Amino acid sequence: MDRLTSGTDVEKVIVTADQITARLIEIARQVEKDYEGRELLLIGILKGAVMTMADFSRALNRHVEMDWMAVSSYGSGTKSSGVVRILKDLDRDITGKNVLIVEDIVDTGLTLAWLKSNLESRGTNSVEILTMLRKPEAAKVEVDVKYVGFDIPTEFVIGYGLDFNEKYRNLDFIGVLAKHMYS
Ligand code: 5GP
Repeated sequence: MDRLTSGTDVEKVIVTADQITARLIEIARQVEKDYEGRELLLIGILKGAVMTMADFSRALNRHVEMDWMAVSSYGSGTKSSGVVRILKDLDRDITGKNVLIVEDIVDTGLTLAWLKSNLESRGTNSVEILTMLRKPEAAKVEVDVKYVGFDIPTEFVIGYGLDFNEKYRNLDFIGVLAKHMYS
C-alpha cells in the first residue's frame, strides 16, 4: 500500500497525493482572485489541518498571515456534540481581518458553525471556510463552506493530517480506515 501502512489497515485510498496537490492549486487560484487587493489571514485548525495549511499556503502566489487555533469538538463520546472548547486561542486580535478558516474535514459541521460565529463576533471583516474534505452530513447544518477539496462518503478516513489514535496523520494520501482496526 505505502511505506507507512501494512496493507491491511487502510481499506481503500479515496484521494491520492497527486489529486490533493492538483485540487489545492485550483483552490489557490480561486482564492487569489476572490481576495485580490485585500489582506488575508489563514487560520489553521490544529492538528488535522496542518498538512492542508502547509500545502495550500505554499500554493498561494500572494502574501498571507497565518495563525492557529486548537478546539475540541467532542465531549466524552465519539459523536460531535456541538459543544466546542478552545484549547489554544489565536495569538492576536483579529479585528477588521479577512479570515479564511483552514480545516481538514467537515462532518456534522457543528464545530465549524460554532467557530465561524465565534470568529465573526471578534469584529472581523469577513470569515470564510476552506476544508479539504466534506461528508454528506455536513449539508444538514447551516454552515457555508466556500472552498471544498473533495466531497467524500460517510466513512472514517485517515491520512493527510487526519488521525486514528494520533497515528496516520503523516500519510500523504487520504484513505478509509479498515473496520477491523476499531472493532
Ligand atoms: P464536526 O463538528 O464537523 O462533526 O467535526 C469535525 C471534526 O471531527 C474534524 O475536525 C475531525 O477532527 C473529526 N472527524 C470527523 N470525521 C472524521 C474522519 O472521518 N476521520 C478523522 N480522523 N476525524 C474525523
